[in-house]
Amino acid sequence: MKNNLNTTYESFRKKPDSRNKQGYRRISQTDLYQQVVGFTCMHCKQLISSDPVLSGVNNRNHCPYCLASKHVDLIYSGDRMSACKSVMRPIGLSWKRTRNKYGSSLGELMIIHYCEGCGSLSINRIAADDDPDLIVNLFYATVELKSELRLLLDKARMLPLEKDQYLQMKACLYGKN
Ligand SMILES: [Zn+2]
Ligand SMILES: [Zn+2]
Repeated sequence: MKNNLNTTYESFRKKPDSRNKQGYRRISQTDLYQQVVGFTCMHCKQLISSDPVLSGVNNRNHCPYCLASKHVDLIYSGDRMSACKSVMRPIGLSWKRTRNKYGSSLGELMIIHYCEGCGSLSINRIAADDDPDLIVNLFYATVELKSELRLLLDKARMLPLEKDQYLQMKACLYGKN
């Protein structure tokens, strides 16, 4: 029994230490390469360029062909500090909350990603070369979201699109280019 405990403790200690004291990963060469050059989609395996000229965004964080993402950011977009690294699935569309004092206009159209590894939720900007048909499909997925997920979105202060917001969604999507 005592031996077992020691072995467990030792094998735990010998794991390569890629995290700092707060438990966050250090930014590695691979992360930098992916941010500057490109990466292969974890889900559909397409090769994706990180060139902002193509995507229209500075931190491309999802695949334009299938919209899947990878859980790399911990606190804010582009920090790449999360140790999770699981696939994040697009589950719907949300409005970005804006501090509009009139409270009338809807914010930017965003994709809601759900992490299959840890259950984290995040909203991400739509890139210029994201497949628009997939975005429209996400509108229907949003309307059909299960109530458990709706509760989680509400807790995370996200604003999923409503059934009657199809035209607003289209205007945002095609008004962009
Ligand atoms: Zn993909
Ligand atoms: Zn995760």
